[in-house]
Amino acid sequence: MVARAARAADLADLDAGVSDCFACPRLVEWREEVARTRRAAFRDQEYWGRPVPGFGPADARIAILGLAPAAHGGNRTGRIFTGDRSGDVLFAALHRAGLANQPTSVAADDGLTLRDIRIFSAVRCAPPDNKPTPQERDTCAPWLHREVSLIRPTLRVVVALGAFAWAAWWPVLRQVYGLRPPSPRPVFGHGAHWSGTAAPDLLGSYHVSQQNTFTGRLTPKMLDDVFDQAKQLAGVD
Ligand code: SF4
Repeated sequence: MVARAARAADLADLDAGVSDCFACPRLVEWREEVARTRRAAFRDQEYWGRPVPGFGPADARIAILGLAPAAHGGNRTGRIFTGDRSGDVLFAALHRAGLANQPTSVAADDGLTLRDIRIFSAVRCAPPDNKPTPQERDTCAPWLHREVSLIRPTLRVVVALGAFAWAAWWPVLRQVYGLRPPSPRPVFGHGAHWSGTAAPDLLGSYHVSQQNTFTGRLTPKMLDDVFDQAKQLAGVD
């Protein structure tokens, strides 16, 4: 799998490789189990039940780094943040920011397109309780590293959704940019900003999970501010 990731020639090749990955036994079992049993509301739907690749153009100047696909969201629809409440919040914000052509993301064929932004996750398979193990994070890292390599020419800013994604970014500096990660590591927080010189800037945002958006810990305004800052840093109109 490491070799497959490293030799991906372009994003289409990488996405195909990701979609066909079976490297984590626990996650393979879980994603397939969820796809078999399904949630009652989606009983009549065929679940994707595979790893979920990134989404967005190859010349993205901004990237969103998430944690992992949701069991009945990306793992059902096959597109990241698609078909769940987290995605509703995220894509509404991207639409307000002019980075998405529509405010909703319900299915892989719903006509959604992104501009200047690509979305991917640190772990590409839905994990039980949304909690991948450190070993699963490390196993999946070569996909992330190759994906960043492929968009490196234009990438200027990364928005990490949550502390897990924030922590997953630092190895990218060494693997993709040949840089030593800062020590001690900058602390994650909403609005945290690490300024890269020879690497993209990193912005922290609370995750768009229901836990945060239903409780008001993360508001639409807070998300708007993060994407405004990301656009400014990336030089996106
Ligand atoms: S989490 Fe990543 S490495 Fe593990 S099976 Fe899924 S795609 Fe492969």
